[in-house]
Amino acid sequence: MKGKLRRAADRIRSIIGEDWVITEREYMEDYLRDETPDAIRPSPAENLILAKPSLTKEVSEILMVANELLIPVFPVGGRTGLVGGCIPTEDGIILSLERMNRITVNRENLTALAEAGATLGDLIRAAEEADLFFPLHPGDEGAQIGGLISTNAGGVRAVKYGVIRNYVRGIEAVLPTGEVLNLGGPLIKNNTGYDLMHLIIGSEGTLCVITKATIRLYPKSRFSATLILPYESRADAIGTVPKILRSGIIPLAIEYVEIDELNRAAEHVGEAWPLQSGRAQLIIILSGSSEDEVYSACEAISSIAEESNAGEALIAETREEQDRILKIRSNIYTALKPDMIDILDVAVPINRLCDLMDRIDGISKKYGVYLPVYGHAGDGNLHIHIMKEDGEAPAYLREIKNEIYSASISLGGVITGEHGIGKLRIGEFERFIPEKERELMMKIKRIFDPNGILNPGKLFPL
Ligand SMILES: Cc1cc2nc3c(=O)[nH]c(=O)nc-3n(C[C@H](O)[C@H](O)[C@H](O)COP(=O)(O)OP(=O)(O)OC[C@H]3O[C@@H](n4cnc5c(N)ncnc54)[C@H](O)[C@@H]3O)c2cc1C
Repeated sequence: MKGKLRRAADRIRSIIGEDWVITEREYMEDYLRDETPDAIRPSPAENLILAKPSLTKEVSEILMVANELLIPVFPVGGRTGLVGGCIPTEDGIILSLERMNRITVNRENLTALAEAGATLGDLIRAAEEADLFFPLHPGDEGAQIGGLISTNAGGVRAVKYGVIRNYVRGIEAVLPTGEVLNLGGPLIKNNTGYDLMHLIIGSEGTLCVITKATIRLYPKSRFSATLILPYESRADAIGTVPKILRSGIIPLAIEYVEIDELNRAAEHVGEAWPLQSGRAQLIIILSGSSEDEVYSACEAISSIAEESNAGEALIAETREEQDRILKIRSNIYTALKPDMIDILDVAVPINRLCDLMDRIDGISKKYGVYLPVYGHAGDGNLHIHIMKEDGEAPAYLREIKNEIYSASISLGGVITGEHGIGKLRIGEFERFIPEKERELMMKIKRIFDPNGILNPGKLFPL
């Protein structure tokens, strides 16, 4: 370890104690990677310290040391990100808040006060124990509150209540210079000046370290059902989505999936996918306060789907069946990962989803590659996978990616709907985002982080 880092390690030991400062490489391996596909995952730096504070005050003191010595700090959460956002790509300090994992539920306010190191799984369970509900489900329950907020996570079940931005009521965060901000709280209305809290949501660890958040919860839905609708054509499946939304029924989730990937994911988790008809399918999760309400929504959606050439629907009503379906759906990425080069997550307005799907089919034909697609169709957000060919990247990888991004932009969409820019998409961010917007973002970064110590090399090039 280099001199400056050694001095920092000594000072951090005096803040959080010997046991929580790790300098040996073999004990920090898990903190050097995230869930980005292996072929494109950025490499970690050589000289690193891993620090695990347990209090906001300790986070503040560590950041003061780093800012004084001009040492980069990389906040990490559950390391489930898909764009290399938390990877320590320069010599510096990895800051893990995993010991800060307490959650207190306030039933009167329908909120949870969660420390940043608590996981999505912890939050779902804490809400359930209080007879409340945290609806959002961005795939991997190992993601932490700090990471979910920093990436403005979305995922399954965002159709009815929105992405995590819609849940966050308050944030405690530490600036790279050590000052602690307390923004918002368990309030419904708050109009006091610029909304710094919403600026921090989605800032990918580049503006401050989130230490705590107040998260909105919902009453538990007494009844739910999961509907699977099979289609032979991608266009028919996708074309059903706006029709459902126009009908006035707002499901928790409308997911587009394909049978080959579902079977692969099911096998990966030792299960069987329950409906084998149809090449393309929609998974629709409905909730309500009575069995009748949910049942009549299922009926109404089935008849809308029939008009769009859907085959016979499967309705899962028991909790076990519904959990199994969500588990298989959530594991599509993990099952495909070994054979994957990249996963794109473009988002377009709902009424352009069919056009996007046609463009993807066109790109797939033009380059002779298979592009598995699935995703959050109810949010206009699709995951398009670029798979290896004979174990290697396809010959026209760059062109394929560019054409998918260009298709999304030309349809009024964006290059990423939920995974963010991180380290991987900096080139695309520069290419597809107007210069003035990037310039304003860079100026904001400098105001929050004058010495550029926080998560350097992410969002912006170094
Ligand atoms: C199987 C699978 C399915 C997924 N499905 C979805 C999905 O449906 N929707 C979706 O949106 N995402 C999905 N993801 C991506 C990922 O789970 C989310 O991006 C998640 O929000 C990342 O949280 P994390 O705690 O793992 O963050 P990390 O990966 O550890 O970090 C992500 C970013 O947050 C920053 N960060 C972490 N903690 C803090 C903190 N306390 N303060 C400041 N910055 C911090 C990091 O520096 C980094 O920039 C999926 C991932 C997997 C593996």
